[in-house]
Amino acid sequence: MTLHINTPLIESRQLSAIAQRAIWLKIDALQPCGSFKLRGVGHACETYHARGAKRFISSSGGNAGLAVAYAGRRLGLPVTVVVPETTTERAKQLLALEGATVIVHGSSWQEANQLALTLASPDDAFIHPFDDPLLWTGHATLIDEVAQAGHKPDAVVLSVGGGGLLCGVVEGLHRNGWQDVPVIAVETEGAASFRAATEAGRPVEIERISSVATSLGAKRICDQAFQYRATHRIESVVVTDRQALDACEQFLLDHRVLVEPACGAALSLAYEPHALDRYANVLVVVCGGATATLAQIRQWAAAI
Ligand SMILES: *Cc1c(COP(=O)(O)O)cnc(C)c1O
Repeated sequence: MTLHINTPLIESRQLSAIAQRAIWLKIDALQPCGSFKLRGVGHACETYHARGAKRFISSSGGNAGLAVAYAGRRLGLPVTVVVPETTTERAKQLLALEGATVIVHGSSWQEANQLALTLASPDDAFIHPFDDPLLWTGHATLIDEVAQAGHKPDAVVLSVGGGGLLCGVVEGLHRNGWQDVPVIAVETEGAASFRAATEAGRPVEIERISSVATSLGAKRICDQAFQYRATHRIESVVVTDRQALDACEQFLLDHRVLVEPACGAALSLAYEPHALDRYANVLVVVCGGATATLAQIRQWAAAI
């Protein structure tokens, strides 16, 4: 049994026509809690549950927290999520709907995270949003499913926040013998911690997050994501918030699925003529995201 589902893999007529090459979509927006996060979080929670954990603790008011809340409910364990005051009402409601106990603390994620860590007793499992090998092994199932479908792409396009999805996809490519398939790692301006690490030659903390793609808002990528650059071809691409937001609108029209700007960032490459010119057959990870409404996306778009 796994907590995540096997998601649709389809060739997009609309995106293929614009990009003038085959664009395949792995639609993880359709996971039960709206994003790919359930793959890794589900695997981590099942593993910690098997090791005797009595409660899960998270400090994410975003898709990672939602996935922990979902996993806890399915496994019959209580979940506590500590979120900062900046967390939207909608996110808190979604967490409550999954039965999680929500504690609001501090003005930033750092403060919420600090409290979450002190709450964790030896019987609890703290679920990190991106930096845990168990998460990566779970995220890798996304590539397993593509391999099982017998569809080998020339490149994989994905979004990068803290780098958990990137680590999982690279792990998946390697465990399916596809180590020759490059990964195109997309971030938005104002959340480009992978680019910053690439330029500095080591993972560095960016000063502040100033992108509407809040789910990409890790100030520093995990070490493993940086280290994979030595053994796997990973291209760094940075797009604007405008490109990410436009891609959300266009994707809703083309495929009737609403995604967050964090996911729009990856999709925007397929909507940008020539951005993928070196590849004939591209897989885009539609990572999803449940925290943005259409009204919010339009409000952001109107403000920039
Ligand atoms: C978490 C998340 C990301 C980024 O994933 P990382 O593992 O932090 O790199 C991208 N898109 C969505 C919708 C997310 O929830």
